[in-house]
Amino acid sequence: MPDLETGVLVAGAGPAGLLLAAELALAGVRTTIVERLPERPPYCRGFNLNARSLDLLARRGLAESLVAEGHRVPHAPVTGLPGPLLLDGTATDHPFSLGIPQTRVEEVLEARALELGVEILRGHELRSFTQTADDVTTVVHNGQFGRTIRSRFLAGCDGGRSTVRKQAGIGFPGVDARWYALLGDVECELPYGPAVGPDGRSLFVIPRPGYVRIVVREDDPPSDKDTPVTLERLQAQVDAVLGRHVELRAPRWLSRFGDAARLASRYREGRVLLAGDAAHIHPPAGAIGVNVALDDAFNLGWKLAATVQGTAPEGLLDSYHAERHAAGGRILANTRAQVALEEAGEQPWADLMRRVAAHPAGNRALAEIITGLDACYEPGGHPWLGRLAPDVPLLMSGSETHLAALLRAGRPVLVDLTASEAFAVWSAGVEVVAASSSTLDMDAVLLRPDGHVAWVGTPGSGDAGLAEAVHRWVGKVPAAT
Ligand SMILES: Cc1cc2nc3c(=O)[nH]c(=O)nc-3n(C[C@H](O)[C@H](O)[C@H](O)COP(=O)(O)OP(=O)(O)OC[C@H]3O[C@@H](n4cnc5c(N)ncnc54)[C@H](O)[C@@H]3O)c2cc1C
Repeated sequence: MPDLETGVLVAGAGPAGLLLAAELALAGVRTTIVERLPERPPYCRGFNLNARSLDLLARRGLAESLVAEGHRVPHAPVTGLPGPLLLDGTATDHPFSLGIPQTRVEEVLEARALELGVEILRGHELRSFTQTADDVTTVVHNGQFGRTIRSRFLAGCDGGRSTVRKQAGIGFPGVDARWYALLGDVECELPYGPAVGPDGRSLFVIPRPGYVRIVVREDDPPSDKDTPVTLERLQAQVDAVLGRHVELRAPRWLSRFGDAARLASRYREGRVLLAGDAAHIHPPAGAIGVNVALDDAFNLGWKLAATVQGTAPEGLLDSYHAERHAAGGRILANTRAQVALEEAGEQPWADLMRRVAAHPAGNRALAEIITGLDACYEPGGHPWLGRLAPDVPLLMSGSETHLAALLRAGRPVLVDLTASEAFAVWSAGVEVVAASSSTLDMDAVLLRPDGHVAWVGTPGSGDAGLAEAVHRWVGKVPAAT
């Protein structure tokens, strides 16, 4: 007998694991997280949520309070271009990046997960698991003794070195790091921004509250990249690049990262799924890691919940791999391209890219591509199909609301925009909401729980194609059709 039974066991309480668990619990699935660390580390890796993440979080009412406490920047982080990627005019409801510590985002997600009933076992490391056709049995260890947990599914949100990925036998093809950089959260007198030494080499100083983050390429990294970074090591590298001594003090976090890029060959192996860094690692260009982790979790949560609850249409869970593996491939390409751009100097193609970025339309396109705002899971149809539906204003029973608010409960919604409630008959299979809009030229729109558009009813086309879309994404077709 297992020590614990749960619906879904999530390994890892980073952004991916916390959001995934909250989404599962929102749908009513019993969910347990095991997290190796006894408490969240005091240092902070990432410092931003991008426009795409804010759009997604807003579908669950989670963006507003974060936006209120964060710092808005009207452009997207990018590497290798001389100017910013402006978000004004891009396909988002949040045309800005939000400066907010990753640790704070995790706190908010953890609070939500707990509120929804997720059990979080900190100080519990996943060691091994076996899966059958029906369930997964996982062995976790809390430093003193092991426990077994039986679940219907196991989600590996356990970071770039994912034990779950390795034990599931999922390949992680890609490229090794060509360079490593040292990172130090320290105090020093260097001004913010790039600092260039006498031989043209540079380092970067990023302002943080009460300290700075220094990032500098490492000469001769040790053969074991896990060798701890010391203040002396960072100091020597900074002095070597600057050609002078600048004292570094009060280290808060010292680390090393490289430009390796790898993508899991499968995001699903039977009853085991991967999300976030467990599924992909890439250079830090564009500060995208947290954001992709959230995107994966948001895509997976409702699909996995419906599968556990037995309501999922055939193929729904596999659409997670289809959609997010492709997205992961694009993230790797985008981040590697930014590094290549940074290293390209005066090469003609790099000059061309800079000119594209300087052109307003090119700048917007790059901003959408690099942030993932261009996500479209079904290209080629109606402009809304497969995309995240914009948060347009709506009138419902005479009251003002907006589209994102219809998705708070995490369920699929058919928005009936005909004044005659022509789509009410579909309520046997999907929640139908009657609303009106002064801007939308459509009769109805079927939204997946993640806000992506599954079907659009254009004026005069009736419900053509709706049965297929409901069958594909919701799993039940109303008897009346
Ligand atoms: C220096 C640096 C700066 C960054 N800056 C940014 C930024 O500005 N913006 C951005 O978007 N991203 C940034 N990132 C990337 C971002 O931090 C990651 O992509 C993000 O944390 C991934 O989230 P995750 O949930 O997939 O994995 P993680 O956050 O790595 O979480 C995985 C969790 O799993 C736990 N775990 C691991 N193994 C086990 C096990 N066997 N059993 C139980 N638990 C386990 C770990 O302890 C960890 O808590 C940065 C990364 C670094 C290193």
